[in-house]
Amino acid sequence: MCAACWLAQEGLSVAVLEQKGPGAGASWGNAGWVVPSHSTPLAHPGALGQGLRWMLDPASPLWIPPRLDLRMWSWLWRFIHFSSAAHVRRAIPILKGLQLRSLALYEELCAHGLVFGFRRSGLLSVFTTQRAFQESLSTLDLMEREGIEVEVLDGPAAQAREPLLSQEVVGALYFCQDAHLDPAWLVRELARYAQVLGVQLRIGVAVEVLEREGQRVIARADGNRIAAGTVVLAAGAWSTQLARTAGVRLPILPAKGYSVTLGGVDRLPASPVMLSEARVGVTPLEDGRVRLAGTLELGVWDDSLNARRVQTIRDAAARYLHVHPAGGEVWCGLRPCTPDGLPVVGKPHGLDNLIVASGHGTLGVSLAPVTGELVASLVLGRGKDLPVDPELLSPDRFQELFGIY
Ligand SMILES: Cc1cc2nc3c(=O)[nH]c(=O)nc-3n(C[C@H](O)[C@H](O)[C@H](O)COP(=O)(O)OP(=O)(O)OC[C@H]3O[C@@H](n4cnc5c(N)ncnc54)[C@H](O)[C@@H]3O)c2cc1C
Repeated sequence: MCAACWLAQEGLSVAVLEQKGPGAGASWGNAGWVVPSHSTPLAHPGALGQGLRWMLDPASPLWIPPRLDLRMWSWLWRFIHFSSAAHVRRAIPILKGLQLRSLALYEELCAHGLVFGFRRSGLLSVFTTQRAFQESLSTLDLMEREGIEVEVLDGPAAQAREPLLSQEVVGALYFCQDAHLDPAWLVRELARYAQVLGVQLRIGVAVEVLEREGQRVIARADGNRIAAGTVVLAAGAWSTQLARTAGVRLPILPAKGYSVTLGGVDRLPASPVMLSEARVGVTPLEDGRVRLAGTLELGVWDDSLNARRVQTIRDAAARYLHVHPAGGEVWCGLRPCTPDGLPVVGKPHGLDNLIVASGHGTLGVSLAPVTGELVASLVLGRGKDLPVDPELLSPDRFQELFGIY
């Protein structure tokens, strides 16, 4: 939707082909964070060991189904390749630069009169174990070097800052640059804005194939061929299948996550709160609602709700916060994850009119506006003044590594 808006803002004629409706995928019930503080990619040196430990615990925040799925194991192979300190050092400035640009673009959208619950109230990462708290302090140097402003609070100072925190919290980090928004509201507002800009929304149109004709692709939906000067493939976790029909291999795997939105809450947290050890995010939303979001089930395609994982999210909230996490609306969505934790925004080699804009993983809200801006720059052939070199996000960057997609 952001790609459509940014292209239409440039005066181009745009149609969106959407099989269900704006926000039908992962963009609806997520935590809505826009967080330069969370610019470490999923692939980092500790990720593999922790992931293996969590695999043995059915209530853990990460789950990898034990099945023989060549695509998943191929993805994991690449993930291991990227789980290095050198990759983290390379990826953090890229993700941080993109997030800071997105923050500025969200402010521009607000200045255009779009309303989507955008608040720059910072983010509190809280800890219930000294071990995890001390480990987080060891990353402060790196964050400060990257220009991430962070305030360190001990348990009592954290509880004084956020009275909803329970006595179990032993320490916290406060990131003042972070922001949040209501994601469902954002998608609705972007769809409305797109129409104001003249974008055609063709809802209920499922693209079946991207047919290749020489160096170009043509979308086929409902038996019709829909030709376009440029085709932007932004189908989230489903992008891999569509890309494959055009002969493009994208290592994007779904990672299912859940959220529970509680209504009628007496007291909301002043800012989003990360329940660090449990990997659960808590977001205050308008109208007395609070959202708990977490869990990463890798390679899981279905949209069934796993009651045990939802309960784990509720239990974490009850441990860290003075809230009563019963009832509410339960939702799940598929994050489109790449093995290096960077999105894919760019033209695949050998195709003149295809641009991929996907693979945003855990950061699709954070990176949405800057992705729209990058797509518009690629279509218009403008490379100047971009927050990153577009080559770094190219869909071709995985080609030299072994993989099946
Ligand atoms: C629990 C949870 C919490 C999260 N929290 C955050 C957060 O706090 N901050 C953040 O930045 N990110 C967060 N994320 C990640 C974020 O939600 C995703 O990265 C983002 O929504 C991906 O957006 P997308 O537009 O690429 O994909 P989606 O939102 O999934 O959209 C893809 C769209 O493509 C359509 N589509 C698919 N195939 C076809 C087809 N063949 N033809 C036509 N249409 C098609 C689908 O219907 C869908 O509407 C979270 C995710 C989860 C699950």
